[in-house]
Amino acid sequence: MHIFREPKITLLAAQTYTGAEHVNWQSDADVPAQAIAEFAGRICYLSFGPDAGLEGGHKLIPGRTTNQAYLANILRTGHGSVLEHAVWTFLFEGISRALTHELVRHRHFSYSQLSQRYVDESDVAFVLPPEIPPEGEAFELFRASCERALDDYRKLLAMIEEQVKDEPSATLRRKRARQTARSLLPNAAETKIVVTGNARAWRHFIELRASESAEAEIRVLAIKVLRALQQQAPNLFGDYTIRDAGGYEVAETQYRSV
Ligand SMILES: Cc1cc2nc3c(=O)[nH]c(=O)nc-3n(C[C@H](O)[C@H](O)[C@H](O)COP(=O)(O)OP(=O)(O)OC[C@H]3O[C@@H](n4cnc5c(N)ncnc54)[C@H](O)[C@@H]3O)c2cc1C
Repeated sequence: MHIFREPKITLLAAQTYTGAEHVNWQSDADVPAQAIAEFAGRICYLSFGPDAGLEGGHKLIPGRTTNQAYLANILRTGHGSVLEHAVWTFLFEGISRALTHELVRHRHFSYSQLSQRYVDESDVAFVLPPEIPPEGEAFELFRASCERALDDYRKLLAMIEEQVKDEPSATLRRKRARQTARSLLPNAAETKIVVTGNARAWRHFIELRASESAEAEIRVLAIKVLRALQQQAPNLFGDYTIRDAGGYEVAETQYRSV
């Protein structure tokens, strides 16, 4: 039986920025997500500079000069819709069903999650909650309980497979057995999920889930996501500081809930 001790995150996709050929303006950002957010913000006040060449007779203004200054002002003023144009997709693995139950409450993300109805979970791994030390009495209790659950899952799966053996569709037979047997798996059962979200939604997630009051496992995930996004787009996530709160990390920013 495999036991995961921390979440694994993989960046699956980030955007490209092609710019607009007919607009004589360039961002100084080499990060596509940052350039897109800046372009989207500048369209609001036409702050591409007087020589940008846009048709329509509107008056253009210069605006702030750098992407860093531009996005810092967006974060400061809470012009959050501009951040919705910057999008990333992650694969999360080694996380528990308990974690994803909390994760999917964030309604501005898009999700695709491993199905326990379609996938045989007879050898599923489990996720050790961060509060349980990796050895000792609590760990042994956790491990033994997961092993028992897995054993019961296999037994119930076999029983229901036998019960529905006259069902003509093999897919339905499997699904009926697995969807029933999974009721015996604990919250700690490992799952995998692909999550797509924009910068505004990721920021909201980080603020709620990398905070002191967040649950321990999702907080570890949120800190990992924050570190990845700070590498991806420092002008959109660089305002967060990560600090040790006494054995675990939390993130904070002065620009909350944009
Ligand atoms: C520490 C902690 C403890 C929690 N405990 C519980 C609990 O005991 N029970 C429980 O059920 N949940 C609990 N939650 C989950 C919480 O209630 C939210 O469902 C979750 O944090 C997602 O937050 P959200 O709704 O702000 O986020 P999102 O769904 O990401 O939405 C982001 C923002 O969009 C806006 N928005 C989204 N949908 C609507 C809408 N329909 N109408 C108006 N505005 C909208 C809101 O401004 C919202 O803040 C807890 C969360 C945390 C962080």
